[in-house]
Amino acid sequence: MENKRVRLRYAPSPTGPQHIGGIRTALFSYLFAKKHGGDFILRIEDTDQTRFVKGAEEYIIESLNWCGIKIDEGVSVGGPHAPYRQSERKALGIYQKYAEQLVKDDFAYYAFDTGEELDEMRKRLEAAKVVAPQYNSVSRQNMKNSLTLSEDEVKKLLSENVPYVIRLKVPRSEEIRFHDIIRGWVVVNSSQVDDKVLLKSDGMPTYHLAHIVDDILMEITHAVRGEEWLPSAPAHMLIYRYLGLESTMPQYAHLPLLLKPDGNGKLSKRDGDRLGFPTFPLDWTDPATGELSSGYREKGYFPEAFINILVLLGWNPGTVQELFTLEELAQLFTFERVSKSGAKFDPEKAKWFNQQYLRKKSDEEIAALFLPLLKEHLPAGSPLLESKYVTTFCKLIKEKAHFVNEFWSLGSYFFIAPESYDADVLKKRWNEQSEKFMLVLTDNYKAIDNFTAAETENIFKQTGEQTGVAVGTVMQLLRVLLTGVGGGPMLFEMMELLGKKETLQRLETALTKVKN
Ligand code: GLU
Repeated sequence: MENKRVRLRYAPSPTGPQHIGGIRTALFSYLFAKKHGGDFILRIEDTDQTRFVKGAEEYIIESLNWCGIKIDEGVSVGGPHAPYRQSERKALGIYQKYAEQLVKDDFAYYAFDTGEELDEMRKRLEAAKVVAPQYNSVSRQNMKNSLTLSEDEVKKLLSENVPYVIRLKVPRSEEIRFHDIIRGWVVVNSSQVDDKVLLKSDGMPTYHLAHIVDDILMEITHAVRGEEWLPSAPAHMLIYRYLGLESTMPQYAHLPLLLKPDGNGKLSKRDGDRLGFPTFPLDWTDPATGELSSGYREKGYFPEAFINILVLLGWNPGTVQELFTLEELAQLFTFERVSKSGAKFDPEKAKWFNQQYLRKKSDEEIAALFLPLLKEHLPAGSPLLESKYVTTFCKLIKEKAHFVNEFWSLGSYFFIAPESYDADVLKKRWNEQSEKFMLVLTDNYKAIDNFTAAETENIFKQTGEQTGVAVGTVMQLLRVLLTGVGGGPMLFEMMELLGKKETLQRLETALTKVKN
């Protein structure tokens, strides 16, 4: 094992958009592979044709690309183990022979039971108060399978093409031990394990068989997946053992659940839109119903913030550091620092992460992101689309925002003069004294040429002395007269950007309007 090249796969089923939990599995696998100079593989597990959803595979690839998770081998890029789609691998006959081998070695068997017969079995077991009715070492004795039928009967049914499945022959009571990188040793008695179907009647392998065959053939060293697979893991250990592949099997890591913000239960796909935050990386429109589920990308999250949010759902660096680049994570990541217990999703913290990355970006970068949004509001050729103006606007407004897509609503007054003024502030602050202050201030501003933040602030203070008005009582009023609203970025910086002409024009308009 030690000398093997480290290879991890992300193996989603294309049954819809990938939930953030799935992308976290991909991210952890990718980070571990990169830390050890290994490969990250994308395999598509599409053996359940009834649950296939069109567009899901493309969605998965686009999500990984957006996150910056580079696929070394897989459906989208090819590689030495192609094809990477299980339906195509099935067509090549890759799985059937493993199932047949298990039957031959008496570790699996043919089961010919019809749907009705299985229903009857369930009812019978329920009537007998069996807690978890399942097809297992006990109940199989009363069913129609190659363990209960004679060899001749089995041959006959097979030759008549009677549909069958191949099931794993789980021993009655045997201790199954396996090591999980996150959980340590796990011990389960085989009496808890059902006789899992390995090959379905349409010849398709189930997940249980297919992932094992593929992990072996693709030389996977670590199999990382969600905690929901833990109950199936003992069956998987038996399959490895029965195929004689225990010495080359990957090490398993079962990741902790993602929990709702209040910690009360598993985060479900529907929680996001219900609670006001996305649970998907990208927007997804259900092809059958047209229903839209929102994604981080479209909500305005940066991919850097998104992966930072994801990585801390279950992993911690053991230090106080909170912001990490993908490259740093690929140095730091270990499964030893992944917790066993569920990770609570915190929507407020998610926004905080985006804000941190927003502040890290240069004003020019942000301006480039904001410009297309701004163009939706201004006529083509508007002088306010000029790069210096937009860049300085971004510099001022970014302190107030979590997302670039909030800039317009937070600061549209930088581009359009206000039409109305915050009534509460006016009620509180507009009086004879403050009016006098504003008139003198307007005259004083007219007299200066150097309309900088520092100079306008000086004049503001001087006007206070000149008129005997405490500037603290008129500062917010001045902001309201210029912008319409009571809060915003630094007042004098903003005036410098608006410029002398625009500032004076707005003041004069406001003074006439407010007076009447
Ligand atoms: N196809 C499985 C799923 O989508 C993958 C589990 C695994 O990674 O082994 O849940």
